[in-house]
Amino acid sequence: MGKKQHSDRTSKSFMSSGSERVSLLNKEAQRKANEDGTPDDRTTDLELGGTTEASNVGFGRVLHLAKPDAGKLIIATVALLIASTSSLLVPKFGGRIIDIVSRNLKTPDERAEAWDDVKKTILAIFLIVVVGSICTSVRTWLFSSASERVVARLRKKLFGQLIQQEIAFFDVTRTGELLSRLSEDTQIIKSAATTNLSESLRNVTTALIGIGFMISSSWKLTLLALVVVPLISVGVRMFGRYLKELSHATQAAAAVAASIAEESFGAIRTVRSFAREQHAISGYSEKVDETLKLGIRQARMVGLFFGGLNAASTLSVIIVVIYGAYLTIMGHLTAGALTSFILYSLTVGSSVSSLSGLYTTAMKAAGASRRVFQLLDRVSTMPKSGDKCPISDPDGDVELSDVWFAYPSRPSHMVLKGISLKLSPGSKVALVGPSGGGKTTIANLIERFYDPLKGKISLNGVPLVEISHEYLHQKISIVSQEPVLFNCTIEENIAYGFDGKASDSDIENVAKMANAHEFITTFPENYRTVVGERGLRLSGGQKQRIAIARALLMNPKILLLDEATSALDAESEYLVQDAMDSLMRGRTVLVIAHRLSTVKSADTVAVISDGQIAESGSHDELLDMNGIYTALVRRQLQTAKSEQVMHNEECVG
Ligand code: ADP
Ligand code: MG
Repeated sequence: MGKKQHSDRTSKSFMSSGSERVSLLNKEAQRKANEDGTPDDRTTDLELGGTTEASNVGFGRVLHLAKPDAGKLIIATVALLIASTSSLLVPKFGGRIIDIVSRNLKTPDERAEAWDDVKKTILAIFLIVVVGSICTSVRTWLFSSASERVVARLRKKLFGQLIQQEIAFFDVTRTGELLSRLSEDTQIIKSAATTNLSESLRNVTTALIGIGFMISSSWKLTLLALVVVPLISVGVRMFGRYLKELSHATQAAAAVAASIAEESFGAIRTVRSFAREQHAISGYSEKVDETLKLGIRQARMVGLFFGGLNAASTLSVIIVVIYGAYLTIMGHLTAGALTSFILYSLTVGSSVSSLSGLYTTAMKAAGASRRVFQLLDRVSTMPKSGDKCPISDPDGDVELSDVWFAYPSRPSHMVLKGISLKLSPGSKVALVGPSGGGKTTIANLIERFYDPLKGKISLNGVPLVEISHEYLHQKISIVSQEPVLFNCTIEENIAYGFDGKASDSDIENVAKMANAHEFITTFPENYRTVVGERGLRLSGGQKQRIAIARALLMNPKILLLDEATSALDAESEYLVQDAMDSLMRGRTVLVIAHRLSTVKSADTVAVISDGQIAESGSHDELLDMNGIYTALVRRQLQTAKSEQVMHNEECVG
């Protein structure tokens, strides 16, 4: 009991040193983030959870992953037992040959008999070797294939788990970190769960069987040889625990480096345009050096440990040889038995030292995998959506009542303060107002990317929480300011929400409605043109029109248009606007707009300022109020006028 407490304490103190390092790394990341002007509340539950949940992650958890392969692993284990036994039978028969040849052979008959015995023994050795080799092949094959399955299963499970997390989780977790968990850490676990397991089993059985044989040869010698075992095992345990923490810290540092790389590649244009390549290189190098430092510390410890291990086991063999020689001289032991014994003890010794190596690798894996398991265990903080599919006639009624909201990553900053808004079926509501007022946030909440802190949002009278996830997103489509396309063909991008059931003619139809067909057909590969990562091989207007076609194909009842034209030049804006008009027909529309023309035609205009609805009503009603809206319209009209003048001048010129 006392020992257990002690060991718990040691592991905790190790833990805190590990997490201190991690939190240091996070602080560093935070400092960086502040410099970059990104939100500073970077502490995620992923990082906070490091100390609390991680304590129960061990090698056992890693082994558990191999459970579905239990059948194969059992066969592999049987093969392994046979192979280990056969490897130990060789010294036994070797010893027998020595005993045969050291018989007192006088008559030719005796010699012939001895020779016969030798031949029989050699035949037996031959058979043992053949069986042993076959079993070794089977064992290696089965264990390796199981390890491939384990890593594949783990990756699939982890990915499936991660993609289900709430949006707020991704607001605060770096993508590079997740990628690093998904690829690197799972790789480390892979070898630990199977190959390592197989090797450990082999060594354990070899050692046990070997010790059995040793005892049968001479129990006195065996006892002497085993004196060092407790010593070694204490050392191994301490060392293993240390390595576990070190490895956790190393992987955490590696993940930070991966995040930096991911961020730099993702924003390569920004890096290039500010000529910050060198800055990126030094940032990355700094993190890699941190990983390196920890890695070198690991290497030094491992070196020291194995040196000590080697010394201990060699010493024990020497002592055994000396005492064995004495026993043989005194006639208590035959020369053959001594030879067998020494061969056994060498085998057992090497098994024990491999075993300690494997134990330390397992500890390393346990340390590295801590966050993988943490991620696997993480429960999304957004309650699972319900299974209701509310239909009403007319369809597409959305209502926000007294909605309060702050982003989970910045809980102290209330973004929406009591928003009540009704989108009647088929109506068009426009949101206008200063940037940062909370317009996009309202669209995010209707998409249920987040849940409101207070208040309710409902579709056809049913709260969003109770509506089936798939159903909700069938009903609602969003076209955002910066539409993101996937790195596949235009066709696949348009059909993205459709689960592969869209026909070519459907796709072409919506592309025509979205004013996209024309430019698509100018590409040599037409609809099979690959658009590049996030769609970067297309212009802004082209991306936008594909996003509109994508939304059109879903034929949603409710449309959220978030400043879909603000980033475009006049020409593509005209095309996109035209596309949007066809998109809006017959649907409930929430349009976040900066264009007066869009706003004018809305049934209701709501001015969102500082998280509240400052004014609302029709265009004319608002103009009569002579408030924020009027000021916005005036400014907008001025820009529109100057644009008009420019346009006229161009025409004249
Ligand atoms: P806009 O009216 O310009 O669309 P937004 O709804 O995008 O405004 O933003 C409202 C406020 O919420 C801003 O202060 C912004 O900084 C903050 N905000 C937006 N997105 C997030 C986020 N993911 N995490 C934390 N704060 C956010
Ligand atoms: Mg916005």
